[in-house]
Amino acid sequence: MTAARAGSRAAKPGAKKKAALARRGPARKPGVASHIPLGETATEQPEWRTFVGRWLAMSGCKVEPAPHGDWEVELCEALQKRWRRQRVRLVFDPARNTVPRGAWFTAPGSTAGRRILEAALDHPMFTRRTALAQVPGAPPEGIASVCRARGLTWGPARLGPVRYERRVAFHAVITRWGGLPWQEQWVILVGAGGEVLERAQAPQVPDVRPREGLYQMGEELEPELRERWLQAARATLEELATEREREWEVSVGRLRDAELERLGAFFSARIEEEEERDRRRTGRDEHELEHGDATQLKLEWERRAAEVRQRWEMRTEIRLWGLEEWSWPVADLEQELKSGAMHVKLRSAVDVARGRPALPACPTCGEQAEMLVRARGHVACANCAGA
Ligand SMILES: [Zn+2]
Repeated sequence: MTAARAGSRAAKPGAKKKAALARRGPARKPGVASHIPLGETATEQPEWRTFVGRWLAMSGCKVEPAPHGDWEVELCEALQKRWRRQRVRLVFDPARNTVPRGAWFTAPGSTAGRRILEAALDHPMFTRRTALAQVPGAPPEGIASVCRARGLTWGPARLGPVRYERRVAFHAVITRWGGLPWQEQWVILVGAGGEVLERAQAPQVPDVRPREGLYQMGEELEPELRERWLQAARATLEELATEREREWEVSVGRLRDAELERLGAFFSARIEEEEERDRRRTGRDEHELEHGDATQLKLEWERRAAEVRQRWEMRTEIRLWGLEEWSWPVADLEQELKSGAMHVKLRSAVDVARGRPALPACPTCGEQAEMLVRARGHVACANCAGA
């Protein structure tokens, strides 16, 4: 799945000028144009290294550590063919001045980084795993561990037998092009009915101990179900990309404005110099010539500013690179809430892989409740009790 999203975010010159002036800090040296990108790519990204390492291992490559945090990689057959070499030295440290002969500088967004990402995204990896159950499957206090009760007493928690449900994890990389290329890894966990259960910015489903293979899960996936899962994941990824884009617009916009500001300071100073020289001049012919230079400078300024805006124009791309089918341990938890003669039975589904009960449904409205209270001789959530 590939989705490219184009966004034209060229800022309006008038509005931006004001904003840029307001942000001018004492530390900035006006007129110094720097083309060294600062910020996000200036330090190594540990998630990126994890991603590359995991992908290389899953593709069948052999990775050995080399000095300075480099990796010496013996490529698998498919990659040997693809890249026409048997081994490659990967350099991750973005601050390294010299790179060993033949080595690939592998920071996110670098040429080799993109090459690796492209190969990784070519065929989504498909794996089957089982989430190991925790013992005990739920905390002893049961639902009380996730839901507070006021004016009510919890009875003992009764955990039912553990069963295994099918879940699917979608692994995706969201890439931002424009200015500083940037990548983030996300994982989305979808439940049996196609509902999105979790999303996390991580290379793996978090807080779970996996084992290879599907436990207690024989039958193959139905095609309609698979399609429903894919649709849910796709919609969530789209939402995610929109959220990330909104946030990136701010950070990218700030870097772009800083560059425009430096450019502006440089050209304003040059133009001012030209005009000052102009005023001192006596010869008329010469005057016109010099006046022409100031105009040339203004045109050059506009051209360069347009270039800067274009370079920072943002484009986001989402790509799915891995699918994991999971066998996931779940169980039902039953527990009573009591107040005098009143007994209300509550149920919660427990994620046994994490030993975590879900929020119980409010007995009055059915919504998930973080707190239950006694209201008009019945049990209700804060919303129901307040209404
Ligand atoms: Zn309620």
